[in-house]
Amino acid sequence: MTAFQYASLDDSLAKKLIDRAGLGDIDAKVRSGERLSFADGVRLYETPHLAAVGLMAHRVRTQRHGKKTYFNINQHVNYTNICVYSCKFCAFAAKEGEQRGYLMTPAIVEQKVKEQLHRPVTEVHMVAGIHPQMGYDYYLDVVRAAKRARPDIHVKAFTMVEIDHILKISGKSEDQVFADLREAGLGSCPGGGAEVLVDRVHKAVFREKQGPQGWLDTARKVQQHGFKMNATMLYGHIEKVDERVTHLIKLRELQDECGGFMAYIPLAFWPYHTDLANYGHVTTGFLDQRSIAIGRLMLDNFPHIKAYWIMLTQESAQTALSFGANDIDGTVTEEKITHDAGTTEPQALDEAQLTNLIREAGYEPVQRTTVYEEVGASA
Ligand code: SF4
Repeated sequence: MTAFQYASLDDSLAKKLIDRAGLGDIDAKVRSGERLSFADGVRLYETPHLAAVGLMAHRVRTQRHGKKTYFNINQHVNYTNICVYSCKFCAFAAKEGEQRGYLMTPAIVEQKVKEQLHRPVTEVHMVAGIHPQMGYDYYLDVVRAAKRARPDIHVKAFTMVEIDHILKISGKSEDQVFADLREAGLGSCPGGGAEVLVDRVHKAVFREKQGPQGWLDTARKVQQHGFKMNATMLYGHIEKVDERVTHLIKLRELQDECGGFMAYIPLAFWPYHTDLANYGHVTTGFLDQRSIAIGRLMLDNFPHIKAYWIMLTQESAQTALSFGANDIDGTVTEEKITHDAGTTEPQALDEAQLTNLIREAGYEPVQRTTVYEEVGASA
């Protein structure tokens, strides 16, 4: 049975399956629009009945988005891998002086964007390490460089870790920094850097950089200054079930307060070449689908759930469209971060490959801008 056939079970059959899985009370809440509790989230992670969780998530996805599945035509520019921090899950970062370290000047960033002018790219996604030497103007200049190369491109740049760093080194007021970033051409922010928003995981695997409260405080500032952003969770390493649920509830609370999150993107951890490599496993298909589905069910105030194909794999991302996801991300082009950690996925997909993945799973591909305006149903 394909993912889509399974997801299109008629409602009475789906209800029976969910009831038999012992999740009828959670299903009743989902159907009535009642918010799921922490305990509900834990049960959804612990039940062996993944199909029941997926059916609930799929129903919500279908009510909100029908068969529409969003994708965008984008490119990634990771402007430096040199980083002052040493997060244990990170295979991308290098120290200054290391042979594999690199830093793109604004001119190189401009060239990278120009190299894609023959393609209908609408977004450049820029995230990177925290370089010890680069000053405030560098960050403005890399944004300006992308806009110079392609004035109509949407620049989605800087994780909350980078934004926090930019604020700290600016010597300017918060209002001025966000005004400068906007004037330079920043359009929105990606959702990385959150990892898992609990102190235990922060202390164990990324203790040097911004912790849970710092990430949430910075995200609040970003949204209060009028920028949209995404949110992620890096799962499949040392985090526990209750910590995943805590993370989701913190995101949900901030969304209630500010409303600036567009999509939730669960990120499957790839251990290769990281300090957690001995820890050993790559996430399972079971956990990948469960993470998507629970994101859809717990984050009732997030409009979009994204199956990021680079980290999930194309196969798993395609299946995730029947487990609550309504977005498969973009064409990407030259992704470095997950590739350094061992993914065997390609560095890019073209539009036809992406739309074929979506159609084969039984859905309707719709190209979007970064902020989810529809560019038009893809032919
Ligand atoms: S995850 Fe980001 S902040 Fe941490 S070491 Fe890697 S590049 Fe640096």
